[in-house]
Amino acid sequence: MNVKLNNGVEMPQLGFGVFKVEEGKTVVDAVKKAIEVGYRSIDTAAIYQNETGVGQAIRESGVPREELFITSKVWNSDQGYEATLKAFDASLEKLGLDYLDLYLVHWPTPEQDKYVDTYKALEKLYEDGKVRAIGVSNFKVPHLERIFSECKVKPVVNQVELHPYFSQLELREFCQKNEIYVEAWGPLMQGGEALTNEVIAKIAEQHGKSPAQVILRWHLQNQIIAIPKSTTPSRIEENFQVFDFELSKEEMEQIDALNQDKRQGPDPDEMNVY
Ligand code: NAD
Repeated sequence: MNVKLNNGVEMPQLGFGVFKVEEGKTVVDAVKKAIEVGYRSIDTAAIYQNETGVGQAIRESGVPREELFITSKVWNSDQGYEATLKAFDASLEKLGLDYLDLYLVHWPTPEQDKYVDTYKALEKLYEDGKVRAIGVSNFKVPHLERIFSECKVKPVVNQVELHPYFSQLELREFCQKNEIYVEAWGPLMQGGEALTNEVIAKIAEQHGKSPAQVILRWHLQNQIIAIPKSTTPSRIEENFQVFDFELSKEEMEQIDALNQDKRQGPDPDEMNVY
């Protein structure tokens, strides 16, 4: 199932993430399995150091390039206008592609204060047709507001940590008002306690589904783009089998009520690792 981004480009609402998936055979096998079971969107980043394997898997999948949606991200140490243009070319080369579907600023890293210039480089890549859509990741409202006031092209997505224990309601409302899709990283809480939560377990049992499938369904019904990761073939498949059931309004509300504003990753205001 696709969503339509604010520039008209369509993006699968469920994709496959490859953070911490080792370069080489591990990532090639995982991405090929994902494509085989139906995923058409792959989320990588320069810092994951597996773009070469992602590219190999894409080529070996046999699925035409235009049917796939490939995302990568510029790493913090490559921020700044010229450095970002170079980093983009390096990513493209590793992936063996001649365009990306989506390119993101990975973190705002406010301390170095380069994200506006970085985003302007993304605008240039977009204008030049090297990327079909541009966006940001880990941006809070003030970072987005600065992009709105200093840049021309509205980000299509903001990829942020989001799961039932950290549901980001305020940011979601702000993004929705501004026609920016929220994309959840860590949608399964990076394997954390949401997967063993009793409320989720009970809902899962009632539907004959797994807790992971219920959490992913909760994302989809909340209009969130989700990119779960796994290297286990059965889980890669399981995480894609979420289009054949529906959570009721009450079940959605029960999961909404689990929010604890509990992050797994760093607060973007304090994330200054390069
Ligand atoms: P995730 O929430 O997708 O969790 C993955 C983990 O959940 C697995 O390693 C495994 O332990 C467990 N899991 C997966 N499927 C399961 C299942 N069916 N049953 C039980 N357990 C299961 O976490 P993630 O990988 O950190 O996030 C997803 C993707 O988001 C990443 O791979 C990456 O592409 C992206 N990401 C982006 C950022 C960013 O800063 N933009 C940060 C982290 C991740």
